[in-house]
Amino acid sequence: MAALTGRLVSVALDDTDSQYGGCTTHLTGVLLNELGSKALLADYPLLVRLNPNIPWKTRGNGATVLRLFYSGDPMDVLELAWQLAQEYTTPRPPLPGKSPGVVVVEGPVWDDPAMRALYRQALTDVVTRDLTERALVKVGGSFRGGRGVIGASSALAALAPGDPYTFELTFYRLPELWGSRRCVDFGEAFLAEAESSATVNNLDLEERVVAAAPGGPDPVLAGFRGLRPDELWQFEGALCERPHFAVLYRSNQHTGVHLVEGELRPYRSMLIRGTVASRPIKVPRGHVVVTLKTERGLIDVAFFRETGPLTEAAEELMPGDYIEVGGGVRPYSPSGRLTVAAELMRVLRVSKALTKLPPRCPRDGSTMESLGRGKGYRCPRCGLRLPEDAAIEVELPRALRPGLYLPKAGRLRHLTPVGGPLPTLASLPVELKASDVLRVYENPS
Ligand SMILES: [Zn+2]
Repeated sequence: MAALTGRLVSVALDDTDSQYGGCTTHLTGVLLNELGSKALLADYPLLVRLNPNIPWKTRGNGATVLRLFYSGDPMDVLELAWQLAQEYTTPRPPLPGKSPGVVVVEGPVWDDPAMRALYRQALTDVVTRDLTERALVKVGGSFRGGRGVIGASSALAALAPGDPYTFELTFYRLPELWGSRRCVDFGEAFLAEAESSATVNNLDLEERVVAAAPGGPDPVLAGFRGLRPDELWQFEGALCERPHFAVLYRSNQHTGVHLVEGELRPYRSMLIRGTVASRPIKVPRGHVVVTLKTERGLIDVAFFRETGPLTEAAEELMPGDYIEVGGGVRPYSPSGRLTVAAELMRVLRVSKALTKLPPRCPRDGSTMESLGRGKGYRCPRCGLRLPEDAAIEVELPRALRPGLYLPKAGRLRHLTPVGGPLPTLASLPVELKASDVLRVYENPS
């Protein structure tokens, strides 16, 4: 089998994004193309999202990994990737506080416990350079660069066999078009979506917008997400602008792997469960705050108006409802309580909504009148008095049903799960041809 020649080498990149155009996934496609026939793929290119609740990681907090069978010296891969990252970021300085990082490790790094622990921490929490380098030393990793080394290293052990995954097929723009208006046809994308069985977050049907196509100067034309590569390639028909090249990534996007239970600390991505303690409060600008009684005390959950149906569902919550919320812990809260910004809610149990009605008079059947809160009832016809507990309790219908509530399609965060079952790999490596994951439409000029 040809795919088993050469040494198993993983190369990871992070932090090459820039506000002047350019992004890490684009550079990964360039690297894949440059490696050419010296490298055979051991896995799909990986697009790995890390903790989205770290404020200084602005553009989606994503790193990439190529798992290869490489017939040359693995250090050549490091030097090539680093050289490309340098060439890539020199005319386009990285965003403030960012600096590119490239990491190379030999062997099945996805099996290494220290690297798996690093990945899990980077998914849900903050990772230090020190922790990163200690894990890298254990696996004999080599690196070049700055802060990006943290994200790149953290991504190396992502998407191991058994981990859920999705795909993203990303089309990139010809360099001369960067910064100009993108041409992606909503109608054609809608048709591709309609014929698909499992696509995720590509269209905003309400606004009739292709959510897969970003704004801004970066080289991404559109990144279509779903569970089946053959369905994603159908979105090619929605492009009314000739792409430069396309890369099919395997990704942890929409798997929810960042939401874990545990101690609440600022910037962590968490899953919390609790009972609604009071009626939802609608705050200015349409956001909704709900206080939950949890094992860890009272916690405020903030639902932001932009999340649409998620916030609308939160408004229907009532005291006694039992819910699970996934989201990020905010560093500051006006109430002094810890606040979690919700990205999803699972309603586990709705409480009964009861209301009290005045009883009927046992003598003459008249509807009795309340004498005021807690003071009982009196019959308007015969004057009979009854205590408060004679009231009739009536159950009101609830609009809210148990189930999963999410922001509207097109507005999901990168890692937010969509509820359905996801595929996993039984083992690695995967046998692939370069043409399965990289399609070049026009040679780089
Ligand atoms: Zn009466």
